[in-house]
Amino acid sequence: MKPVELKDVLRWLGSGKDAGTPELHSHIETAIRQLEAAVQPREIHRFFPLVSDGDTFRVEDASFTSRSLSRNLKGCTEIAMMACTLGPEPDRLIRRAQISSMADAAILQAVCTVMIENWCDEVNETIRAEAAEKHLFLRPRYSPGYGDLALESQRDFFRILDITKHTGISLTEGCLMVPTKSVTAFIGLSETDRNCILSGCEDCNMHDTCMYSRTEKHV
Ligand code: SF4
Repeated sequence: MKPVELKDVLRWLGSGKDAGTPELHSHIETAIRQLEAAVQPREIHRFFPLVSDGDTFRVEDASFTSRSLSRNLKGCTEIAMMACTLGPEPDRLIRRAQISSMADAAILQAVCTVMIENWCDEVNETIRAEAAEKHLFLRPRYSPGYGDLALESQRDFFRILDITKHTGISLTEGCLMVPTKSVTAFIGLSETDRNCILSGCEDCNMHDTCMYSRTEKHV
């Protein structure tokens, strides 16, 4: 997994990249080392044919409804589904830190956020390379519970990918993932290259003009 950079953790802690005392930096470095030894990254991803109908799209026997994701998937012929996790140990470390020091717990949370993002980006790059072999290009990833895609869509998402068996992630009755440092996402695959950026349409300088943008300006 890509190493965690101090500046990324400082950003999640709300400090500028050059901000923070040497003491804070030292705490962060300790948290990074602790978590690097504890995480057990796992993932599953698969490609499926995509059938779209207005604001709804189908994958295997399941239907998913989202106006903004459907707009993002326009022109896509396939869809990738991915699930990634850091494993159960980060949650345990954070729970333990919450008893002794909320500041340490906040640092561990920030490091974990960077780690799961890095892990997702790495899996995203694997999907990009596999799609390129089929001359397909990626749209940004889009998670259940984001925008107008209901969190309850996690149930079908988990069933289709058999996520618990492959990664150890389970779903609570309220559709939250355990371990909490886990992510699921759809990624549209199109024959047209839009040079989509990993961080999504919100950060893309094309989002005002792009017909596939998921941002609200295009509703
Ligand atoms: S706005 Fe940017 S990231 Fe979003 S679909 Fe268009 S090109 Fe891709």
